[in-house]
Amino acid sequence: MELNYLKALRCRECKATYSPVRLSICPKCLGPLEVEYEYDLIPGNPAEFLEKGFTDLWRYRKLLPIKENSRIISLHVGPSPLLEAHRLAEKLKLKRLYVKNDAVNPTGSFKDRPVTVAVSKALELGFKAVGCASTGNLAAATAAHAAKAQLPCYIFIPENLESNKITQTFIFGAEIITVKGTYDQANRMAAEAAERNNIAILNVNIRSYYVEGSKTTSFEICEQLGWRPPDHVVTPMASGALICSLYKGFQELVKAGLIEEKTPRLSGAQPAGCSPIVDALKRGGDEVIPVEEPKTIAKSLAIGEPGDGVYAVRTISQTGGCGEAVSDEELVEGIRLLAKTEGIFTEPAGGVTVAALKRMRENGEIEKDEEVVCYITGNGLKTPEAVAHPNLNVSNRLKAVHLPL
Ligand SMILES: *Cc1c(COP(=O)(O)O)cnc(C)c1O
Ligand SMILES: [Zn+2]
Repeated sequence: MELNYLKALRCRECKATYSPVRLSICPKCLGPLEVEYEYDLIPGNPAEFLEKGFTDLWRYRKLLPIKENSRIISLHVGPSPLLEAHRLAEKLKLKRLYVKNDAVNPTGSFKDRPVTVAVSKALELGFKAVGCASTGNLAAATAAHAAKAQLPCYIFIPENLESNKITQTFIFGAEIITVKGTYDQANRMAAEAAERNNIAILNVNIRSYYVEGSKTTSFEICEQLGWRPPDHVVTPMASGALICSLYKGFQELVKAGLIEEKTPRLSGAQPAGCSPIVDALKRGGDEVIPVEEPKTIAKSLAIGEPGDGVYAVRTISQTGGCGEAVSDEELVEGIRLLAKTEGIFTEPAGGVTVAALKRMRENGEIEKDEEVVCYITGNGLKTPEAVAHPNLNVSNRLKAVHLPL
């Protein structure tokens, strides 16, 4: 067995600690649990920190909650490109802007990161099946990794998801349970299934381990910048788990001595038709009021009752970040802007992020000389309906083109 630095699960609320076993919430106060490591023992230089024998995100295994390398289920997730975005930077009047492009991950979204960790952990904990409640991308990522692990897979989704995301889940052989209603209702059904059966519902009963995968984005950004953090990261938010994990990632690199003591500003983007976290920020305080019926084409962000909403609000406030909510029209413009300036096709969540970044520049929430990373979390091929113009007839378009001679 490899040296392992996994230390405990700590309750975010009452701070009680537990040994890192099958435990989904704090038995004392029902608060969420967070994974802790032996930070003092983790090598503070990159050459020793990076796990030998891995080129994907498992090179960060010393800060991931797995005890045995032999149990790792990998489709080779990460590193994804950190591209300097000169043209988009010019449009947004920013000195230096990077796009962290997770559209290129194995199943086309950042969800491959938490899932490779969670499915590996599910095996280690002895679960005989996996599953999730999903707004679309988690479904495909879970189904693909379950196929690789040869585990039965049960996916709970609201019935109105984009058809490519359902196809992409179906092809891996997962059982799909569609719920007439919202994501939050699908989530409750998944939680009941987790309780009654020996199933690891990745984002429910092994959530503490699941979210650990997402912080590898922060590790990669720092590694790609030469082991230093940027000034600012702008990321989309649904449940709020991602932005909290990004924060944990930057903090842990500081604790391990791998980067200087500095936390980037973390800012969050949501669609206006479902923006409970941004609304809470704008009101001040950290009370998150659920949105009963999300109304947006950014379906991957349509979580009306964000499980980590309060913590997302606190993360943004603590790091001096901000939040913006953009309309569906703005997000489509955001998709087009990124595509035309940088050659990257993103799904609506990415459009939301680009449009929110644009707003943050326009209203001065981001300064011109901040070094900004814009996190693109999903691929545009998953959701062509978001940008396919109803009047766009391909044969008409071809006729009208005059090629230069
Ligand atoms: C799930 C998802 C998010 C948001 O993640 P949370 O952790 O729920 O905040 C962002 N972008 C895409 C494309 C997603 O699929
Ligand atoms: Zn507690």
